Amino acid sequence: MGKDVGKFRQRLPLLDYLRQQNWVARPAGHGPEFVGLCPLHPDTHPSFYVNARKNLFYCHGCGQGGDLIRFVQLSRHLSFRQSLAYLEQQSAPPTDPAAVLEKTATFYQQQLHRYAEARRYLEQRRLRDPVLIKELRIGYAPGGSLRRHLTAQGYSCEFLQRLGLLNPQGGDAFYRRVIFPCCQDGRVVNLYGRSITAAFAHRFLPGSKGGLYAWEQVQHCPKVILVEGLFDYAALWQAGFRQLTCSLGTHLNARQFQQLCDRPRTVYLTFDVDANGSGQQASQRLAQRLRAQGITTRRVLLPDGYDPNSFFVQGGDARQFQALLETAQP
Ligand SMILES: [Zn+2]
Repeated sequence: MGKDVGKFRQRLPLLDYLRQQNWVARPAGHGPEFVGLCPLHPDTHPSFYVNARKNLFYCHGCGQGGDLIRFVQLSRHLSFRQSLAYLEQQSAPPTDPAAVLEKTATFYQQQLHRYAEARRYLEQRRLRDPVLIKELRIGYAPGGSLRRHLTAQGYSCEFLQRLGLLNPQGGDAFYRRVIFPCCQDGRVVNLYGRSITAAFAHRFLPGSKGGLYAWEQVQHCPKVILVEGLFDYAALWQAGFRQLTCSLGTHLNARQFQQLCDRPRTVYLTFDVDANGSGQQASQRLAQRLRAQGITTRRVLLPDGYDPNSFFVQGGDARQFQALLETAQP
């Protein structure tokens, strides 16, 4: 109970609440005090004082005073417990998952600039263009701080666990990961986290990864480059390529496949050329399925052992990549 009370003081300051209830006040002097007509008794001369710093009120007319919960008890004739329940409702944050993921993405974006380890990692992957970082909303999850940030805004741990932002133990699910928000129709539908340590490299939140990455920007293009990873996407974007999308893995979900097939176009499949051949096998299978739908495909062959990101990290440039596009195999 004590924790709840503190939570309201932080989330819903007394003065804000009174103003929501149309209380009109003027500063009383230069301090944090405000004065206005008393909402608790018929008042003609302003006698109701609020200390905005202490979140306390006192009326010199009727002699009532206290905090926000006391005010709600008196003004709405509720018990202490009923007042708490009322305030809980008044200050409940939006529970739309997309709204929470949006807040989370913004929070991680703010962290990126505060952690040298994150900037070093991006530097290793040669991603350094501030315009790119802003455009893709790249962020950093240091771990151990998201829970505090969101519960202070009133989200319950249980709700955040359901979204997968917290693990079953209640800690931040993303720990030391570079974060890319995945959007669909302007809403964040998932977050991709790339570990900067030896931990399991790729991670999404539970639930769908959505459609193709940034598809709205290329859906009308007659030629589209498809990559499998967001670092590949970012590397090509930074090199100036814009007719670009990403399937977030070599396996396309039904929606992603449909998107590629929704009109005649040429798809440049640019999957990893890894030692075990899995990227190229996936690329061949996808090319067959796309051709069966009337889509023209070209397989872009990077040098052995490369993905688009490492191609640029190892000194490849836009002109060389353009040459690979032009010689891509049907
Ligand atoms: Zn009064």
